[in-house]
Parts: sequence; structure tokens; C-alpha cells
Amino acid sequence: MAQRQFQTEVSQLLHLIIHSLYSNREIFLRELISNASDALDKLKYLTVADDMYKSISFDPRIDLSFDKDGKTITIADNGIGMNENDLVESLGTIARSGTKAFLEKLTEDAKKDSNLIGQFGVGFYSAFMVADRIEVISRKAGEAGAWKWSSDGKDQYDIESAERDLQGTTVILHLSEEGTEYTNRWSIEDIVKRYSNHVAFPIYLTYDEKEYDGKGKEKSSKTKTEQINSGSALWRRPKSELKEEDYTEFYKQLGHDTEGPLFYIHTKAEGTLEYTTLFYIPQKAPFDLYHVDYKPGIKLYVKRVFITDDDKELMPVWLRFVRGVIDSEDLPLNVSREILQQNKILVNIRNASVKKLLAEFKTLSENNKEKWETFISQFNRPLKEGMYHDFVNRDQIQELVRYKSTTLEGWTSLAEYASRMKSDQKHIYYITGGDEKTLKASPLLEAYTAKGIEVLIMDDEIDDFIMPSILKYQDWELKAANRADADEELGEKQDKTAEKEIKPVIDKIKNALGDRVKKVKLSRRLHDSPSCIVADENDPSIQMAQMLKAMGQAESTDIKPILEINGEHPIVMSLKTAENEQRVADIAGVLLDQALLLEGIKIKDPADFVKRLNRLLAG
Ligand code: ADP
Repeated sequence: MAQRQFQTEVSQLLHLIIHSLYSNREIFLRELISNASDALDKLKYLTVADDMYKSISFDPRIDLSFDKDGKTITIADNGIGMNENDLVESLGTIARSGTKAFLEKLTEDAKKDSNLIGQFGVGFYSAFMVADRIEVISRKAGEAGAWKWSSDGKDQYDIESAERDLQGTTVILHLSEEGTEYTNRWSIEDIVKRYSNHVAFPIYLTYDEKEYDGKGKEKSSKTKTEQINSGSALWRRPKSELKEEDYTEFYKQLGHDTEGPLFYIHTKAEGTLEYTTLFYIPQKAPFDLYHVDYKPGIKLYVKRVFITDDDKELMPVWLRFVRGVIDSEDLPLNVSREILQQNKILVNIRNASVKKLLAEFKTLSENNKEKWETFISQFNRPLKEGMYHDFVNRDQIQELVRYKSTTLEGWTSLAEYASRMKSDQKHIYYITGGDEKTLKASPLLEAYTAKGIEVLIMDDEIDDFIMPSILKYQDWELKAANRADADEELGEKQDKTAEKEIKPVIDKIKNALGDRVKKVKLSRRLHDSPSCIVADENDPSIQMAQMLKAMGQAESTDIKPILEINGEHPIVMSLKTAENEQRVADIAGVLLDQALLLEGIKIKDPADFVKRLNRLLAG
């Protein structure tokens, strides 16, 4: 017998599951049935797609049984099975690096974590909530020997060779105190109906039916085996036969979610292509939404035979939060997983699915305010990614994305902005780079506010990357308020005499600041503040330049701001007469640094700033 240590992350996860999902521990059965169902899916695929497996006689099923006195529950399947290596890989480690990142995010706060862990999907290890020892006896399809894995879920597990007549896996739970309440027919049936009714394979329960005489003494006992789930692929049943609860239960099992979905879309397409899709939008963004190795949410079936659940091409990346099933009638069963991406049928299904989802999002935005707000709070950011990447659907996605604004609380759309535009307003304005509070207080907005022009507040860090490529909404240009060219509508302040008058001041400031700025100019957008900074038309914003620098792109460090000054501000006016070189340099330095600070930008030399400020305060 070989004894092995769990990978540290497994021990961590085990500890966490046992402590945070305590009140919901019956889900262990759903997780084990879901694994069994996946194992059956995998073998079913091989028996149709791979000659090596065609000879296996295979009537896929899941068998449950229990022993009240012996305190065990057994879950068996005749699916793909695991060999020694698979057991080590699957039940001794956590393979996905996303899971590790997830674990790092966890806190000591078990309550908060139980929400997180619900979204993440707990899997096999959840069985340790009800068992103090687990044995897994498995034989891999096409191989001769079987293996037994066993563990008490603490730090280590054992592996030894074992016997099993046919391919498949048997999981025996030796129940702890907490698990004994499940050793009866009714509890098991109840849990299976609630969580696993629509698993596409039959689930059988074996139990003893006892008869008693008038005095309550056992007269006879018969062992019975009965199918306890409906056992059909839910998505293939007509909508009219399905209830809301059916969809919810199926989603929880498919998406490993403890909550029901926000909404779902069930479509049967008939025509040149025949397929069924059932898509779910979760209530909460999946925990790995922003991980590079996120787990895709779509399962592909061909004529009800499972093909893959690990193909990121089944949905565009920006729709990676969608969960569900695509079942095609037209793809060949032995379609190779490697060439799926180039398959024309699949490309068509995918394109139609994206259109369908977009149409549903639109309907939701129009008809259900509450759900729509939840949707936006979770998925606004992926929508923005879609606006950036998906040229074909850009117009539609643009209608869905929501922003904050200077004139109202909550979210607004570009269409709503457009409907509020002043009759002579030429462009749509927005400001990026920083949090909402900083942006709303930016001096760059003063003139817009004074003129009653609304500005969209874009405080999501990806806005800075995305917006420069989104040039238009309908016929309006989108202009960043923190760019040099966004001030043309604020023009009345620009008169030639003022410019001429201020020229010596501008020269003084430019001289003092040297190459810290690209240019100094008279501002058209300032009212109360003495100065502000903007980025030149084709430069990245200063915030973006800082971000690029942090990412190691050194050449972007040279990007310099344009300093705009308010010719009517007393500090600026005082420069007209100021002759003392030190004083001019101090004022110029403070004008630049305060403008940077107000945009939420870290200044390069705070000590220098403070020194100058103190000299000025001292008079
Ligand atoms: P997940 O199912 O989310 O991958 P689990 O911890 O539940 O996570 O299972 C880990 C892995 O163990 C599975 O991905 C699968 O490869 C393997 N496994 C678990 N149960 C079975 C089973 N009944 N038959 C075959 N393989 C299984």
C-alpha cells in the first residue's frame, strides 16, 4: 500500500469546505452524482468515437445504496473510471491554477467564503462533510486492473490495487456522525429529486423493503432496486413540460452553483441547422471570470452524446460567464475535439447563440429593471470587452453597456445620454482614469458642468484601454474630457487678446517646468481651479501611461501631459508680475503637481512639492 500526502491546497480546501458549507452538506450527493454523470458522458463519447472502446458493452447507469447499520452510502457508476495515476492526479491534487488563486483569496470569514465557494463548485471533496473515511474503487475502461484510493480527509491518502468486475467507479462513504441522517430511502430520494433529477442517465437506488406484522415485528425483507430520477436530458424536453424548478435544479447541478440562475434561455432551432441550446446567466459572476485559465461554462453534445465541456471556443471569450448546453443534430458524433473550432456548423451555432443572447439581454434591459441591474453589476465589464473585441455585434453591445454620469446617480446608457444632449451639443463626453469620486471632482469637468453638458464617468480601469478604440456611438463622436481636443465646445473663452496677454505667463511656466510637460496652454475648460492636465490627442492618458509603466513598458514612461492654466485665476494672474525666479518656479511646480494629484496620479517628488508649497505659504 502506498501512502501519499495531499497537496497542501487540497488540505486547505478540505478544511474550508467542511467548515463553511456545513449547513448545506447534502450537496455532497449532487457533487458525486455529477462526477459519475461526467464519467458516463466521457465513456459514452469514446464508445461512439473511438474504435478501441467500441467493444465495451455499455448500459450507462448510476447506482446508489446505503447501509444503516454499517453507516455507509455507496455511489457507483460504470463510466470511464480512473487508474492509479488518474486517482493521484484527480483526488490528490488541485490541478487548476485558478483554484489556487481562488484559495488565496479566501479569508478567515467563513460566512463570506461559503458564498464564494458556492460559486466555485466544491466537487468530490465535499463528501468529507458527511464522511470520516472515503474509499474509491475504480477501474479504467480498457484496462485490466482496479485501484482503491482511501483517505480520512486529513493530510494523506492511500492507494493500493483492488478488484472490480467492470470499468467504472465505486465511492464508499463511511459516514461520520453528521452523515448518518442520510441512511434512509426517503432522504436519498428527496436529495436526488431536488438536485439531480435531470441528470441524463438513470440513477437507481437499492433498498430493503421490509414488512412488519401486527406487533411491529419484521415479517419479511426484500431488496429492491428502483430508478429515482427522470433520467432524460432536460434540454431536449419541450418547454411546455418544464417548470421553473426543473430549470433551476438543472442549473445548480450544471453550474455547481448554490443559487438559482438570474435567468435562462431555452431555444430549439429547426431549419437548415437543427440544434437545442439552453443557456443560463448566473446571479453572480463566476469566481474565475478574470482568470486566464477560467473554466468554460458550455457543454457540447451531439445528439445527446456529450462531446466536451472544456472548449473555450464554444462561446466568445466575453460571454464566458454564460453556463449551459449546446446539443447539435448535425455534427458528426466522432467530431474531433481538436478541430471543433474550424467546424462551420459550430461556428454558425455559436454566431446564432450570440445573437440570441444579445437579444435576450436587450429584452431584459427593457422589461426587468431589477434583474437588469443585477446583470449589469456583475457583467458590465465583460460587455465592455465584447464592445472592444466583437466588431460584428459592436452596435448592439454598445446599447447594453452602462456608465455612471455627472448628472445622475446609478447607471445610464449611451442612448439615454444622447436623449439628454443639449440641442447644439456636438459630441458625447466621458472621463476615464481614477475612481468615481476623483473623477467627479476633476477640474477638467468644471466648464462642462458650467455649460450644463453631461459627462460620462468611466471609473472601470478597462475603460482606459477600451474607450480609445470606440470612436463613435451612432453618429456622435465619443470624446475623452481629459484629452487636448475635447474642449472645442467650450470655446467662448478663447479670445485672441486673452491669449496674447497670457503669453508671457505661459512662457514663464514652461521655462520653469522644462520637460516635465509637453506644452502649457490657456485653458477653455477651467472655472474655479487654477490648472489641469490633459493628454495630447494621440497619447495614452497619464493614468494609462502609469499603468503601462507598472507593466514594464518603459517607452511609455516618456509621455508628458499638457498643462492647462486658468488665465482668470488669482494665482495665475500673480505670475504676470512675479519676477523672483524661485517664486515663479515654485508656483509653476505647484500648479502642475496639484493638477496631477486631482487626477489621482502619484506625483514623482512629493518632498519637492511640499518644499515649494511651504516656501509659498511662508510668503
Ligand atoms: P471536478 O468534477 O469539478 O473536476 P472533483 O473534485 O469533483 O472536481 O473531481 C476531480 C476529478 O476526479 C474529476 O475531474 C474527474 O477527473 C475525477 N473523478 C471524480 N469522480 C469520478 C468518477 N466517478 N469517475 C471518473 N472520474 C472521476
